[in-house]
Amino acid sequence: MLRAVGCWEAMSSRRVSPFDAIEVRDSESGAQLHFDGAAIGAAHLGHIVENSLTQTVLYDRVAAAGNIELIVPGAVERVRHRSDERLALMLEDGRTLLTRLLVGADGAASKVRVLAGIECEQVSYGQVGIVGSIATERVHGEVARQRFLPGGPLAFLPLADGRCSIVWSVPEAERDRLLALTPDAFCAELTEASGEMLGAVQSVGERAAFPLRKQHAKRYVDDRIALIGDAAHVIHPLAGQGINLGFLDAASLAEVVSDAAKRGRDIGGLAVLRRYERWRKGDNLLMQRAMDGFHLLFGTRNPLVVGMRGLGLELTERLPPAKSLYMRHAMGLGGDLPALAKV
Ligand SMILES: Cc1cc2nc3c(=O)[nH]c(=O)nc-3n(C[C@H](O)[C@H](O)[C@H](O)COP(=O)(O)OP(=O)(O)OC[C@H]3O[C@@H](n4cnc5c(N)ncnc54)[C@H](O)[C@@H]3O)c2cc1C
Repeated sequence: MLRAVGCWEAMSSRRVSPFDAIEVRDSESGAQLHFDGAAIGAAHLGHIVENSLTQTVLYDRVAAAGNIELIVPGAVERVRHRSDERLALMLEDGRTLLTRLLVGADGAASKVRVLAGIECEQVSYGQVGIVGSIATERVHGEVARQRFLPGGPLAFLPLADGRCSIVWSVPEAERDRLLALTPDAFCAELTEASGEMLGAVQSVGERAAFPLRKQHAKRYVDDRIALIGDAAHVIHPLAGQGINLGFLDAASLAEVVSDAAKRGRDIGGLAVLRRYERWRKGDNLLMQRAMDGFHLLFGTRNPLVVGMRGLGLELTERLPPAKSLYMRHAMGLGGDLPALAKV
């Protein structure tokens, strides 16, 4: 998709870090799963990209487009439906804009969602995600690693400069203590939590923690309003799929809207927008439920569950078709894809 919209070149020539394989470990049962891109003929399973790089390149692309006017900073304060098939948007700076369609891509605390009166189910996982960059004793070899611990999963994501980016999901009560540790003490705890999957953790950069919760908007659309990305759904970051789902929402909505425009239909009409909702909601819910399943399955020390999941992981490891299916889905190659995402 990023290639199709003319952004991938600018991103890949800067700081993207490919990974060729994924290793999943269960700290309790000791079982392991290994996903290898070569098994499905893929050069890479994916890329780790800094959020700020994605945002900068997409922003530059939009700014360079002759037919887009950027109003930055800018925020919608109120919306009013008019009788002429337009929505009036009152901005914080006092300006009013008229539009046929307002797309809320304003994240988990979406103001557009609130203004549209769309209810949103919100459930905390009782965890925070600690993020940062680390140097490790052993090289990562372009393999993404995930170790499931009873308190939450720990991911080591390979970066091009040899370091790893971490997402360490821990119980909320651990947040302050872990952030207050000296770098050396934090590295020692992380080494232990990682089961030394890359040897000792030698250094850590700046750390930050984000509360982890799931959210799903009851509806993605209202008359002349559509929600995409985290404004519509927030999932546990354990499979690193949040941004991918948002991109697929954007491409699907763009396709639905441009089809409607070609046919001379009202692009903000509910009939058109519901097509987008039907297309994406099922897929997003499925991914959210899968993340919930992992969260519940790995968040217990119950010996019976630990034994069964160890067995399940070992069986899956010996089932190449199941692993291929999972890899293709995680790579965004499966399901009903919008044209922009088809390779
Ligand atoms: C700890 C953690 C780790 C994660 N790791 C991964 C990962 O490895 N891979 C992955 O794919 N996803 C990951 N995610 C999820 C990912 O960050 C989100 O899914 C993604 O950022 C959602 O993108 P978005 O554009 O929908 O929303 P956001 O990234 O939240 O962007 C919303 C934008 O809207 C702007 N905005 C908000 N309110 C207003 C307003 N009123 N007016 C105007 N503008 C407004 C904001 O400034 C922001 O720029 C992680 C999340 C967490 C918490």
